[in-house]
Amino acid sequence: MARLVMKFGGTSVGTIERIKNVARKVKREVEAGNEVAVVVSAMSGETNKLVDFCNQISPLHDQREYDAVVATGEQVTTGLLAMALHAEGVKARSWQGWQVPINTDGAHGKARIMSIDTTAMAADMAAGTVAVVAGFQGVGPNRRLSTLGRGGSDTSAVALAAALGARQCDIYTDVDGVYTADPRIVTAARKLDKITYEEMLELASLGAKVLQTRSVEMAMNHRVRVQVLSSLVDKPGTMVVDEEEIVEKQIVSGVTYSSDEAKITLLRVADRPGVAAAIFGPLAEAGVNVDMIIQNIAEDGRHTDLTFTIGRADYERALDVLTREKASIGFEKMLHDKNVVKVSVVGVGMRSHTGVARRMFQTLAEKNINIQAITTSEIKVSVLIGADYTELAVRSLHSAFDLDAA
Ligand code: ASP
Ligand code: MG
Repeated sequence: MARLVMKFGGTSVGTIERIKNVARKVKREVEAGNEVAVVVSAMSGETNKLVDFCNQISPLHDQREYDAVVATGEQVTTGLLAMALHAEGVKARSWQGWQVPINTDGAHGKARIMSIDTTAMAADMAAGTVAVVAGFQGVGPNRRLSTLGRGGSDTSAVALAAALGARQCDIYTDVDGVYTADPRIVTAARKLDKITYEEMLELASLGAKVLQTRSVEMAMNHRVRVQVLSSLVDKPGTMVVDEEEIVEKQIVSGVTYSSDEAKITLLRVADRPGVAAAIFGPLAEAGVNVDMIIQNIAEDGRHTDLTFTIGRADYERALDVLTREKASIGFEKMLHDKNVVKVSVVGVGMRSHTGVARRMFQTLAEKNINIQAITTSEIKVSVLIGADYTELAVRSLHSAFDLDAA
């Protein structure tokens, strides 16, 4: 019999009515002959509430106890869904991360899954019982609860699908698939039937919020077929698959943006060996991730300006580190700007087609949008622009790359 993993996000289990709706969907798959494992998130808003409780006790709380608190949201949903399945006449039981067990590296608040022992669960499933598994959590080497980072139940689902050798992992959410751009901004955005792992990985890490980035990495590494679909409408979603499965390849598959950026410029930094290490070393030690970097060579050959971007959440910390290190780095002045956004075009077709960057820059130039920084990879081009131009840039690029719905 084929094994299927179904994952339901917070909005899909946000009310008792919706949990009953999920039970009916699961029942349908069971009746179609699947052995089903269901991974659930906490009811929408619950995890935020639990995080907030921890911060109210103390902003500097013990991360092990944080995990003990925030993992409870998922425990509630597993029990409720199992009951709802019973009410539908379907055999089901709940599994917490430690019961499976889902073993993690124990890094509290951001743990990675190391292994999943599916022996007991698979036997139970083979005997006809639906496994209802708590997403977002596992157990560390210290035998304490550990959570996988916000949005982590996507990763739980994909990891479980890999461990069970499931034929597919269906991720039910509040959107009906992956779009060529954010439909709230681009009315002409289209739902994609299929997208490659690599494109999905870029889109997820460049700001599209459909799947947790790590879950896509995991799906790609283990070749898990993932479908993103809505739990509220009854139609196929977007399949995340291997490149070979996509017959008609677009040059660009999507345009995305991330407002989670901030820009820092150091003026008149000494242009000598070791200066980049003097800047980025202390930032790395403070846990600040640097993304785009631009260095200009100054005319006098002795000084340079250096611009880079970081996540907005690290902004204050980065400014603090650089101010403290000013003397040892030796820059003249620091400029900083939070009013920036990173806009990216993504597509595996870029590997075989030239001119994508040129078309992107031309399109932005025609709209008088100034580019502040650029980065590229094999399958994406990203630019940093003023945040006020976000919508204009995304819409124009969407048309320029022929993505608009007919
Ligand atoms: N409930 C967790 C969160 O809100 C995990 C998840 O939903 O994926 O981050
Ligand atoms: Mg989610």
